[in-house]
Amino acid sequence: NIPVICIDGPTASGKGTLASRVAAQLGYHYLDSGALYRVTAHAALQAGLTLEAADEAKIADLARQLPVRFEGEQVLLNNVDVTDAIRSEQGGMNASKVSVLPAVREALVALQHSFRRLPGLLADGRDMGTVIFPNAALKVFLTASAAKRAERRHKQLISKGFSANIESLRADLEARDARDMSRSASPLQPAQDALQLDNSSLSIEDSVAQVLDWWQG
Ligand code: C5P
Repeated sequence: NIPVICIDGPTASGKGTLASRVAAQLGYHYLDSGALYRVTAHAALQAGLTLEAADEAKIADLARQLPVRFEGEQVLLNNVDVTDAIRSEQGGMNASKVSVLPAVREALVALQHSFRRLPGLLADGRDMGTVIFPNAALKVFLTASAAKRAERRHKQLISKGFSANIESLRADLEARDARDMSRSASPLQPAQDALQLDNSSLSIEDSVAQVLDWWQG
């Protein structure tokens, strides 16, 4: 029985940083499920598709055979580095559009399950604990205020050399939250057995320590 820890929550709540740090501490594998939706949207646009329901079956076909590879921080599609393209705000918006399509979500299930390997997995996303790994041993639902999330996203983008405006970032992430929570397929919501962690006023180290404490509890 391979252990899985899920970290779900809204956009820019710090899931990625928390999940990858806990994974490193435990020596576990790490699944960034958001990256799979981002890469799927990227592949769809490259193939000349729209991100709308009209192209749902075609996007799902792409997702089912997604030639994606993770190398450290880098994400490769067909051996081409697409990291910068998919990490942009536009990349997040595009991901959120394809993620409402049920056939696309279904097409990515097997790929997500394949990340579950010994000695264990840290999975980060929106529906890790509710849909993809419902039997996970630990489920964390990570939140932070919209103001705090916009501030963090702003810092992150600036440090990567993108330009960004806090107000429009906040509007974008609230729009993305609304879409993630209102879609009919796997809406963003905490699993019934998830432990809630609001990290608005916690350091990354505090959040890592809390999750490790729950895990080793
Ligand atoms: O986590 P990240 O911001 O990279 O995710 C991008 C988008 O992909 C989210 O806004 C959400 O719409 C979608 N997503 C999802 N299910 C997941 C992970 C991400 O629907 N498990």
